Amino acid sequence: MANIEFRNVSKRYDDGPLTVPGLDLDIRDGEFMVLVGPSGCGKSTILRMIAGLESISSGDLYISGHRVNDLPPKDRDIAMVFQNYALYPHMTVFDNMAFGLRVRNFPKLGIERRVREAAETLGLADLLQRKPAQLSGGQSQRVALGRAMVRDPQVFLFDEPLSNLDAELRVQMRSVISRLHRQLGTTSVYVTHDQVEAMTLGTRIAILNQGRLMQVGTPLSLYNDPDNTFVAGFMGSPP
Ligand code: ADP
Ligand code: MG
Repeated sequence: MANIEFRNVSKRYDDGPLTVPGLDLDIRDGEFMVLVGPSGCGKSTILRMIAGLESISSGDLYISGHRVNDLPPKDRDIAMVFQNYALYPHMTVFDNMAFGLRVRNFPKLGIERRVREAAETLGLADLLQRKPAQLSGGQSQRVALGRAMVRDPQVFLFDEPLSNLDAELRVQMRSVISRLHRQLGTTSVYVTHDQVEAMTLGTRIAILNQGRLMQVGTPLSLYNDPDNTFVAGFMGSPP
């Protein structure tokens, strides 16, 4: 488990404008934090800074109390699930899920056990010998989740993982992700522009607009007590 602290973190790409101007945000140990806001507001940038895939222009980022500004991604105990599942097409489901453990020289028996457990939890046990081309969209996304899960990371990052799925599957996958989070208790940061997804998944929600944090709170407190019209509009609060 881990907590994540942004202290006055700014991000500027090249010599463009500030994409994230001075973010202060605490993500608590074991919570499911949803980052939500319109397209282009900086959600992916914030997530990628946690993963170490994007540099921080100024300020400090702490994970479990350690400053990680300059820590390479491979040294962060973090797994990320993307919108395009990016499975290796030539590998079986089993090998796709095992890959991240093999490259970390995890013992063979441990790999076997973790992959089978994750496959069981995600309803993939009968599909382990298939190739990605033989899977549906929902199955592929579950393999992507499984691949993150077997690493048993301190932090899960999700970047709009359900946005390529149809409505029915999205609802189904939301409950798979919720259940996983309750079961594993891993700190999760989940990016979406879908307010229903934010409200159903989040322990707390951080609402962003143009890189700025508009408000952070539980779904209910944001709905009942919005600080401004942007938050009220987003949450559909009564006037
Ligand atoms: P979101 O995920 O909320 O849609 P992003 O974090 O992807 O937003 O993007 C925030 C802003 O930063 C956008 O204006 C986008 O064009 C810009 N941006 C994102 N990635 C890069 C990059 N690699 N180089 C330059 N600008 C970028
Ligand atoms: Mg994005």
